Amino acid sequence: MSKAEELKKELAYAPKHAGLTVSAAEQKKAFAFAEDYKQFLDEARTERLAVKAAVARAEACGFKPFEPYRKYKAGSKVYYVNRGKAVILAVIGKKSVKEGVRIAAAHIDSPRLDLKPNPLYESDDIAMFKTHYYGGIKKFQWVTVPLALHGVIVRRDGKEIEVSIGDKEGEPKFVISDILPHLGAEQAQKPLGKAIEAEDLNVIVGSLPFKDDKASELVKLNILKLLNEKYGIVESDFLSAELEVVPAYRTDDIGFDRGLLGGYGHDDRCCAYPALRAVFEAKTPAKTVITVLTDKEEIGSDGNTGMQSAYLKYFIAYLAKAEGLDVFEVLSHSECLSADVNSAYDPNFANCFEKNNSSYLNRGVVLTKYTGARGKGGASDASAEYIGKVIRLMNDKKVVWQIGELGKVDVGGGGTVAKYIAKLDVDVVDLGVPVLSMHAPYEVISKFDLWMAFRAFDEFFKQ
Ligand code: MN
Ligand code: MN
Repeated sequence: MSKAEELKKELAYAPKHAGLTVSAAEQKKAFAFAEDYKQFLDEARTERLAVKAAVARAEACGFKPFEPYRKYKAGSKVYYVNRGKAVILAVIGKKSVKEGVRIAAAHIDSPRLDLKPNPLYESDDIAMFKTHYYGGIKKFQWVTVPLALHGVIVRRDGKEIEVSIGDKEGEPKFVISDILPHLGAEQAQKPLGKAIEAEDLNVIVGSLPFKDDKASELVKLNILKLLNEKYGIVESDFLSAELEVVPAYRTDDIGFDRGLLGGYGHDDRCCAYPALRAVFEAKTPAKTVITVLTDKEEIGSDGNTGMQSAYLKYFIAYLAKAEGLDVFEVLSHSECLSADVNSAYDPNFANCFEKNNSSYLNRGVVLTKYTGARGKGGASDASAEYIGKVIRLMNDKKVVWQIGELGKVDVGGGGTVAKYIAKLDVDVVDLGVPVLSMHAPYEVISKFDLWMAFRAFDEFFKQ
């Protein structure tokens, strides 16, 4: 090595491909972890299904429903489900919660198409569902994609019916049509954002008529008949339903070398799953550790299952009360990793990124100091002290990490739950997995980065 090369190695910041730094044994672990994640992601198609998948795994690991006010022994494992759409999992630590708790917070809702309250209609012998998109989507990406339908209907008699069609082998799927290129000249002249409009996102759900010449809208009637036979519902039961249309893609390896994973909903289940596994790994931690898998992040964390709701604070308040403390005494000493994704640098769209401050596939878990838009507007902006602490931990434990912003300044922006955790007077920074084609029906992440997210949460909890 020349003097300059030596000095450069000593002084310059140069994040590397994780594949160049991890051992063959660790790579094997990372790739095995990705197989577990594939199963989780294929089950966790919606926030409700993600809660179910998380609770089933938690119960298998010995987690029990949380009992408020109970004084738990160190090593106790508990979970609390908020309205079926968010879940908190905790392992009680050896120390008093007065010294603070450690939180990993990820979200389990993903961009999708929700059914409108009165969705079913017939047009020219095709039955369709009207949708209202949820979260930031590029609408033109959602046509001609195989779709599945999941959710609940609370029937007029009060019975809750679960709906899940399109994700299992052999089940029918749904689809939204697009105009053929032969007739698409006018569409092709439109800006991308206008090529498919929100009210064009109508899902094809049927095409066969109820056999009778007397009535009109026989295809719609036939669908109502099928739904009544299967679920006992009538049309007005749609009014008290939450039904979500999601891409019916499996999670698969991408590339000849299988280094990447393609799938729907990596944002943010690729952070939720590692945070879940990390809380399972926590045996008897020094401080109480908490993984919260929250809802509604994609639409601003509003609603009683989103991070702006007080449910996490109340959960921690119960832990505090059990020790005769006020909740603020716990929160003010607590630390959090806001486990959310960042945009991976995309060589196809290099002009949207600033190379020196972007996160890259395979360079490990990405620390994001601030999110927001237009001059850090709406950002939590983690302190140098707290980021320094997290970086020292990752360096000590050989977690491969990188730093990244969400694209070039003033090109766009985004947000996470970090700022709502910060409101509780908790130290928080975003840490997660870089994602390519974020918010598309089929997103891409790296297996190494997924693994490093797990390692980061695991080491954070072990402190
Ligand atoms: Mn996210
Ligand atoms: Mn998102």
